[in-house]
Amino acid sequence: MPEDTIVRALGLGGRARAVAAETTATVERLRTIHDPSPTVTAALGRIATGALLLAASLEKTTRREPVTTLEVEGDGPAGRFIATASPTGWVRATVDHPEAQAEPRPDGKLNVAAVVGDSGTLIVTRDPGIGEPYRGVVDLVSGEIAKDLARYLDESEQTPAAVLLGVFVVPTPSVQHAGGLMVQLLPGVSDAEARELSRRVAGLETVTTQLRAGRGPEEWLRAVFPKDLEILDTTPAFFRCGCSRDRVDRALKLLGEAEIRSLLDQSLAEPVELVCGFCRSAYTVPRDDLARLLLEVEQESGRKASS
Ligand SMILES: [Zn+2]
Repeated sequence: MPEDTIVRALGLGGRARAVAAETTATVERLRTIHDPSPTVTAALGRIATGALLLAASLEKTTRREPVTTLEVEGDGPAGRFIATASPTGWVRATVDHPEAQAEPRPDGKLNVAAVVGDSGTLIVTRDPGIGEPYRGVVDLVSGEIAKDLARYLDESEQTPAAVLLGVFVVPTPSVQHAGGLMVQLLPGVSDAEARELSRRVAGLETVTTQLRAGRGPEEWLRAVFPKDLEILDTTPAFFRCGCSRDRVDRALKLLGEAEIRSLLDQSLAEPVELVCGFCRSAYTVPRDDLARLLLEVEQESGRKASS
């Protein structure tokens, strides 16, 4: 399988910004971790790809790594999806109910909106790496994700955008092709230019059809900006979780005194086993360590109370 890539580009002399990504190997990796149904695989892949596209619009040259989190919580049987990505190209993603199923559409395509739901919310949290994180929330408009992301960009970040996302899953099931394209209009684009751009994006074949024909992200960008494409950079895209025993300890402390105490009570003499929701790695936390974490939380809250 070829390596996944993210290509960032400008068009219209810098007045339009575009990001295109092939994510086939990354989405296949997510499938092997979470073992989702084919329809949830498509939904999870679109959301993970969408997070990578959003993340790529933040600069990577700040002191702290910028991180973008995309959450989709619809009224469908899959529950909540979460994907986190960085402009350096890593992404991780998870879903409440990977086993959720839906009948295919009449045309035989996977019905992503039926597992996601067509009402609910899409939440984007951006930690730009400097200053405070910010958050935008929009209502879902379709549950197919691409349109929902375009609405988020338009309403919450005031950049009118066109978004295409695609994941092609064969019944085995494995991910054959996955990718996405996002084109954002920056200030100074005329109405005629905006119409022409949206006509070109609408005229593109789906990203999975193009990948099947051997055409990658750079070629989609060239089709959108045939005369004035300016490629900024190409970055590998890949799955990475980044969890560690240290982070598990920090997460446990965030749960608070009562939760840690109840874990200690439940575990009797056994160590507590915790599984990372993003990569399914298991962490064994001995009771002594839990007791130490509890003590630390108590001391910290004691300090807060007395100050
Ligand atoms: Zn993990």
